[in-house]
Amino acid sequence: MESVSRALSAITNSSFHNCFPISATVMARFARDCLYKFSVLTKKLETTLGPDTAELGMRFGLHSGPVTAGVLRGEKARFQLFGDTMNTTARIESTGAKNKIHISQETADLLTGAGKGHWVRPREDKVVAKGKGELTTFWLELKGDAAKSSRSGSSEGSESLALDEAPAAATAPVSGGQEGTSQALPERYLRLVNWNAEILARMLKQVVARREAMHVKPDPTEKIRDIETEQLQSGSLVLEEVKEIIVLPKFKAGDAKSVIDPDKVKLGDAITSQLQAYLQAIAAMYRNNPFHNFEHASHVTMSVVKLLSRIVAPEIECSEAKVLHDHTYGITSDPLTQFAVILSALIHDVDHTGVPNSVLVQEQTSIAAVYKNKSVAEQNSVDIAWELLMQDCFQDLRGAIYATADEFKRFRQLVVNTVMATDIMDKELSAARKARWNAAFTESREDEEEDTSVNRKATIVIEHLIQASDVAHTMQHWHIYRKWNQRLFEEMYIAYKQGRTDKDPSTNWYEGEIGFFDFYIIPLAMKLRSCGVFGVSSDEYLNYAQQNRREWERKGQEIVAEMLESFAYSEQLKADENNTAVPPPGLPSVPEKKSGVANQA
Ligand SMILES: [Zn+2]
Repeated sequence: MESVSRALSAITNSSFHNCFPISATVMARFARDCLYKFSVLTKKLETTLGPDTAELGMRFGLHSGPVTAGVLRGEKARFQLFGDTMNTTARIESTGAKNKIHISQETADLLTGAGKGHWVRPREDKVVAKGKGELTTFWLELKGDAAKSSRSGSSEGSESLALDEAPAAATAPVSGGQEGTSQALPERYLRLVNWNAEILARMLKQVVARREAMHVKPDPTEKIRDIETEQLQSGSLVLEEVKEIIVLPKFKAGDAKSVIDPDKVKLGDAITSQLQAYLQAIAAMYRNNPFHNFEHASHVTMSVVKLLSRIVAPEIECSEAKVLHDHTYGITSDPLTQFAVILSALIHDVDHTGVPNSVLVQEQTSIAAVYKNKSVAEQNSVDIAWELLMQDCFQDLRGAIYATADEFKRFRQLVVNTVMATDIMDKELSAARKARWNAAFTESREDEEEDTSVNRKATIVIEHLIQASDVAHTMQHWHIYRKWNQRLFEEMYIAYKQGRTDKDPSTNWYEGEIGFFDFYIIPLAMKLRSCGVFGVSSDEYLNYAQQNRREWERKGQEIVAEMLESFAYSEQLKADENNTAVPPPGLPSVPEKKSGVANQA
């Protein structure tokens, strides 16, 4: 093994036996195995690290030739490899492509010599290597590629460098699901749907396991259908349903002991396919806004899952379930609560129109009228997602989520409170929430029953959890903040260009962000820390928020100028596509820079 710049290189050394060809075959197989294992691993890690994980890739460069080995003198003495072969290998690797195995002429020749000529396919463009000029290089043909070329009749043999069956499964499209709900979703959205379905299915298994462990007797189906219908026909507004305190189940001593391993729970095909179909339909109902889209919903869901997991596994020592229950105000001891909060994150912006509530109200849109000009988008999202869930085709899914009237009420209440908490612009709601926080955490209420006070804390913690997740991009790594901030800017700028808002967002975007950090983000992160249930996550969020604020203070103005420029550029491109092929005036550097980067990548 040897390191080449950022990469590790592995060497098979067969020169003593004068059998380079075998060595090349071994290396090719090794690279293939690495690529395969990596795709399996990233797929597996998606559920814990988030949907972007599967976008990670590996790049391989294979070259063959003689090397010199030795140990240099000095403090950093170690066994090392030297020589031109190492330099060329580094170039072959760095000029390769994501998830591809790039090989040199020498390695290709050796493979051909070993009877594996059908593994190699010439690369169409030439690679330029320092001190070597143009190089002819090759791609190692993997199964997917081979299958394509054999279909077109150009590949003679079926004995390609088969990648087993698994990688295909790792990126397999979603199975159709319920008829009528599967729509043409972009590939990326399908992956997000799969990721979310996996998370929710896992949670749902815990819901079912808990129900079985506690021997909960399901209510008769007719009774459940009746309360569902009653709720649908009640005509009350979502906002009116928000409660100050949600009653979570009390801790029972037997809870911890009688828990059934959720991994042993089988949800059954009907439930899993309905869950998949439901999420696909939700994804399809998200509009294609720059910010408020299904990717944002998935990002928020990821943050909720992470924060919940930190509550479930707090840093504090608590082997006893009762201690854990008390410490987290009962959130950890009720899987249904967690399921409801995760699902709420996923639906919280469904059908978002890409403009703030204030615009919907000002334009006197019909949905603004329906919701009496209050929390318009949020109420609309709850209603849309809920009505969809109530359709007959999701009966089995609903049966897994709630089996009693009590569970139904709790689930509904949690969805309502959680989604409505994402309206942070409404002054009245914000003031009420602030008062509730104080009531829960700063005022002493000796007159209040202990149960009530615990439920009050749980309710307010859940609301802050979703709020923090909704703006999680501000409390994560700078590049994530930048990405989502730019998207939000774009969304607002489009609304301005369309004449739907009269204020140009670029005029005080810089100051606006600083204010948002100072008056919303950082106080929120501090609250998360002070309620003490999120363990290390709360420090992490606060630190990132403070770092991002500092960074923004330094670079923000420049960034706003850049965002404006890139917006103007993409507008110009669109205009050009619609008109003729006249090159855009006054836009010299951007496209050149882009292609330069692409060449080096
Ligand atoms: Zn949101």
